Amino acid sequence: MKITLSAIKADVGGVGGHSKPSPELVATIKNFVQKNGKDKGLVIDSYIGYTGDDTHILLSHTKGPNNPDIHKLCFDAFMEATKVAKEQGLYGAGQDLLKTSFSGNVKGMGPGVAEIEFEERPNEAVLLIAADKTEPGMFNLPLYYGFVEVSRSPGLILSDDMRKGVKFTIMDVEHTEADKIIELKTPEEYVEIASLLFNPHRFVVEKIHSRSTGEQIASISTTRLHNISGKYSGKDDPIMIARVQRPFLATEEIGAMFKYAHYVAGDTRGSHNMALMPVKLNSPASVYYCNPIVTGLYFSMHNGKFTATGDAFDDPVFDEVRRMAAQKSFAMREQGFVMPAMLPMEEIEYTILADKIKELGKRFIIRK
Ligand SMILES: [Mg+2]
Repeated sequence: MKITLSAIKADVGGVGGHSKPSPELVATIKNFVQKNGKDKGLVIDSYIGYTGDDTHILLSHTKGPNNPDIHKLCFDAFMEATKVAKEQGLYGAGQDLLKTSFSGNVKGMGPGVAEIEFEERPNEAVLLIAADKTEPGMFNLPLYYGFVEVSRSPGLILSDDMRKGVKFTIMDVEHTEADKIIELKTPEEYVEIASLLFNPHRFVVEKIHSRSTGEQIASISTTRLHNISGKYSGKDDPIMIARVQRPFLATEEIGAMFKYAHYVAGDTRGSHNMALMPVKLNSPASVYYCNPIVTGLYFSMHNGKFTATGDAFDDPVFDEVRRMAAQKSFAMREQGFVMPAMLPMEEIEYTILADKIKELGKRFIIRK
């Protein structure tokens, strides 16, 4: 049976700032999806959770990717949640919804979308990785390490299927008129892949396919909110669906790629670089400059039903990674406001600081 997994996420309001959704907000989404999705037979199963202030809806169904009914269900659920967020006076109520009514596809309307269609394996295992206070390019380094670099990812030589390599689909997110993509293959084009992924603000991994089976392994949301709306309106916090275990990488081989606490753009006002911290499911954002966070949900599914779930980073090993991430972030913040603690000019283009620098530009004089 061909199953589609759709992960659609949005920030529609946070408690006391950009922290987490309220229990009532999450319950509203759950009830809406139950009533209008599961009860009506539109979806097979659903999971709703949050990472910082971003709430994600994971759906299994048989409608394929980019299905208007599936996208509308999620958009409308976030609209209902926005009503609750407004009633509760939550911060940034409805901030990721750039339109007030649904029109065909949720892409370009604010929410982030990752979707993947596949013939379900008898023991289908999947990871849902969701991040907050960062950008889609956050995944560039972990995916490069996992799918390209053998010294960090020995599964690439231990699995007969993975030895045949993968195909990366990489998007140039600066091109906003239409999707502009390139396909590059491992192992032979690893230098070309690295030549793009070094810039996570512009080049973002969108999909990974197995060259052994041709199947899609991973799907990453690639939306950049400030590109869609023309001005900065929140961070474009990404989500990824990755299929794991044979013939792909093991769950723990993907999970291990989040042990590096690499520096990513985001955190407070989306204007800084700090270390990515893996945290437990349904964790609020940190009040330490909104340190970028990532959660991992692993689950099994059968005939589209989610049969059991686990928390990927609720583990003593990741306590150590959390400590390392905190130390790395502290070190970066010692740099104060000076780059690279703060993002380069192109990335703060839509902030008040960019306007002020332009104003100051008028006061510069050419010395004779
Ligand atoms: Mg967020």
